Amino acid sequence: MLCSRLSPSSFHLSPLRLLGTAASRTVGFKQAELHPPALNFEDPSAFRVKSLGELLRALTVFRLCSFPVLVNNCGKLMSVARSILGGKAFSLMLRPTVYAQFVAGENESEISRSMEKMSLLGLRPMLAVPIEEDLGESVGEKRYNDNMEIMLECVRMSHSNAWCEDPMMQLKITALLSPELCVKLTAVIVQQPYDLDLLVRAMDGEDVTFPGLDQKEGAHLMCGLQRLDKIAKASVNKVRVLVDAEYTYMNPALSLVTMAMMKKYNTDGAWIWNTYQCYLKESRSLLMEALSLSKREGFCLGVKLVRGAYMDKERKLAEKEGRLDPIHQSWEDTNDSYNGCLDVMLRTISQNPERYRIIVASHNEESVRRAARRMEELHIDRDRGSVCFGQLLGMCDHVSLTLAKEGYAVYKSVPYGSVDDTIPYLVRRAQENRTVLQGIRKERDLLRREFKHRMGLIVRGGSS
Ligand SMILES: Cc1cc2nc3c(=O)[nH]c(=O)nc-3n(C[C@H](O)[C@H](O)[C@H](O)COP(=O)(O)OP(=O)(O)OC[C@H]3O[C@@H](n4cnc5c(N)ncnc54)[C@H](O)[C@@H]3O)c2cc1C
Repeated sequence: MLCSRLSPSSFHLSPLRLLGTAASRTVGFKQAELHPPALNFEDPSAFRVKSLGELLRALTVFRLCSFPVLVNNCGKLMSVARSILGGKAFSLMLRPTVYAQFVAGENESEISRSMEKMSLLGLRPMLAVPIEEDLGESVGEKRYNDNMEIMLECVRMSHSNAWCEDPMMQLKITALLSPELCVKLTAVIVQQPYDLDLLVRAMDGEDVTFPGLDQKEGAHLMCGLQRLDKIAKASVNKVRVLVDAEYTYMNPALSLVTMAMMKKYNTDGAWIWNTYQCYLKESRSLLMEALSLSKREGFCLGVKLVRGAYMDKERKLAEKEGRLDPIHQSWEDTNDSYNGCLDVMLRTISQNPERYRIIVASHNEESVRRAARRMEELHIDRDRGSVCFGQLLGMCDHVSLTLAKEGYAVYKSVPYGSVDDTIPYLVRRAQENRTVLQGIRKERDLLRREFKHRMGLIVRGGSS
């Protein structure tokens, strides 16, 4: 049954066409229709809460991110710098700059300081352990168990510190289950759909056989499911766990295990969430299938709605393998897809806010305004938690702070860890800044205006 639902190649045009027709960024009158008057993202005073040093740091980092040659080669540049300077000096260079911009800290006291500051601004932290695994990087069972302990620690930190109400955290399944197995499982479920109950029984410790997997693969899946079960059990009624979407060649397997966790733990509320990447041509049908599965199986559904972070790699791979590009042809098509999925979810939530939830995880001002406008039209409360917003730490603070000021629930995705542990994440972040088109340019402009304003105050103060 799950085969067609979770198949990477099974994109069918849904009979329900996308309802949203996103206002293009250049079509002024359509954008004006979408603006609830209160959401003004033009005001640099949103940055008044930042110190002069923080303004300078953000300006420098975003300036560096605007040079394609630096961004495209930042992974290599970092490893060259590390080998020339040595680990300690490299860490000293990175810590006050790129690291401080995008990462909360290394230990609990550093993280706490960042989180308390964030809470004072009305923003909610969503902790994320930045473990980035891809094919060829698989590690042994012991390392996956260690990762599980790190995730359990993340659940504890999110819950036990009173940083915000209704805490959330992100979870990467490939930190607990090898990417190779996820790819194999994806291929298997296309041929032989798995029933969710099979996975739930495995989570419960029952000795089950997984069709299509050999003994070693089956044993690893069993261990992975039990790791996931421990995390879900620890978080239910405490912390909402948002499972990340990754690459199309493994997403169906990730969705399968996420849905099994939902079936087991989302009986009375959405504690486990899945992510839908709207840059995928099949995103709309995947979301519709998740909605009908949740109704059929009787679980609550939490949705993280994103555009998608792996565009370049997905496209290159599809071209190399002679497959159809899984990504929408243009940013505008991705935008239409985002708006359509957003609308479906908001209408569903307006009818049943106890069982459906969404986080509008985007830096895009139009998407955010659109969500706010639809919430008003559909009479969805800003502070009830069924709809919230998410941006990444260090990115588009003008959007986050304005939303928080207007009473919306806003989460910042907060990675933490040592400089070495966060390098792959930082490299991806820098590259993502290249594709977060408008938001970063606008943020730089507002930061510059606020910086000039401060310098003016200093000069006037000095001369009076
Ligand atoms: C809280 C949070 C959690 C996230 N979790 C995940 C996750 O689990 N998985 C994941 O993949 N990403 C995740 N992301 C990243 C997200 O997918 C986007 O990469 C990022 O937010 C930029 O999109 P935007 O809507 O903010 O910005 P925008 O500037 O509006 O859009 C940029 C995005 O549009 C798309 N795009 C750009 N150019 C084109 C083109 N030519 N054709 C088609 N599409 C195009 C790309 O997806 C690009 O990232 C997360 C983001 C946030 C804020």
